[in-house]
Amino acid sequence: MPHQQFAHAAIDRRPPIPAEPLPMTSSTAPSELEVLQALHRELECDALLTHFAQYSVQWLGIDGLHYGSDAATHFEFDWGRKARHALEYRLSLEEQPLGQLQLRRSRAFTEAEAQQAESLIGALLFPLSNALRYRRAMLGALTDALTGIGNRNALELTLDREVGIVRRHGGHTSVALIDADHFKKINDTHGHLTGDRVLKTLTKVINAAARKTDLLFRYGGEEFVLLLDNTDDDGAAVIAERIRSAVADADFSGLGLESAVTVSLGIATLTDSDSAESLLARADRALYAAKAAGRNRVQAASESLD
Ligand code: GH3
Ligand code: MG
Ligand code: MG
Repeated sequence: MPHQQFAHAAIDRRPPIPAEPLPMTSSTAPSELEVLQALHRELECDALLTHFAQYSVQWLGIDGLHYGSDAATHFEFDWGRKARHALEYRLSLEEQPLGQLQLRRSRAFTEAEAQQAESLIGALLFPLSNALRYRRAMLGALTDALTGIGNRNALELTLDREVGIVRRHGGHTSVALIDADHFKKINDTHGHLTGDRVLKTLTKVINAAARKTDLLFRYGGEEFVLLLDNTDDDGAAVIAERIRSAVADADFSGLGLESAVTVSLGIATLTDSDSAESLLARADRALYAAKAAGRNRVQAASESLD
């Protein structure tokens, strides 16, 4: 087992009571080696901690468990219920902080049980470190490095899920495909670095004009997709126009641009015959029409465009 380090922070304030038998006998509870082997197979944080919670029930009869990673990894896990007593640990492995873990139980923990908890946690540290690393890699694979919003992979995952929800439960969903007008000229005139800064500012302006529930993704280059959950064609038209005018009115002079930056938008609302791909394709055809009609405008998908 790797070198373990974790501080046993103040917890159960009641004095330890004499050791009680564990809720399961050692013949039914899995051995430390079995726990270790099982936890090592889990790469997803959720599955790992669910598995760990099950072992904690078998070994210690816990009623609940809470885990929180550091802010950069953004992972929280809560299982079971609140209880009067808790053991709390600040986890780390080879000086690398791994977040905080709380084991909750209605009965007080004895000293012997606290020690058992520590050896169980010892089996969690290495797999947890791997699962957190895996999670960071997955998050990185879904995030656009320049703007910090979701990338095309993230859009595909989210849109597939959204289409599935509408198919099962009904309702509406719409997308807006947003493309910066004459962006090549901005790059050519002011340089690629300024172009990058314009894309970052555009992200902020669009997000500020959208609603909290709208999700913005970078689709590629100077194109964005805004996913308008729970929104029909009329609602989509209102939001799209709000975004168009917010961008046209935004002040880019701080980046050395004399003229306004504008965007064109193609919007489409999910129909019964749409897939995620056909929805985006219809928004794309509408965007093309908005460009052809002179740019800095919103065009809704319609049968004449399909
Ligand atoms: P239109 O109004 O028809 O959309 O014209 P446009 O110039 O915006 O479109 P075009 O597709 O001709 O050019 C897009 C430009 O966006 C070309 C490409 O160099 C630039 N671009 C794509 N990705 C990035 C990026 O990450 N940073 C910068 N600075 N430029 C990018
Ligand atoms: Mg484009
Ligand atoms: Mg463009």
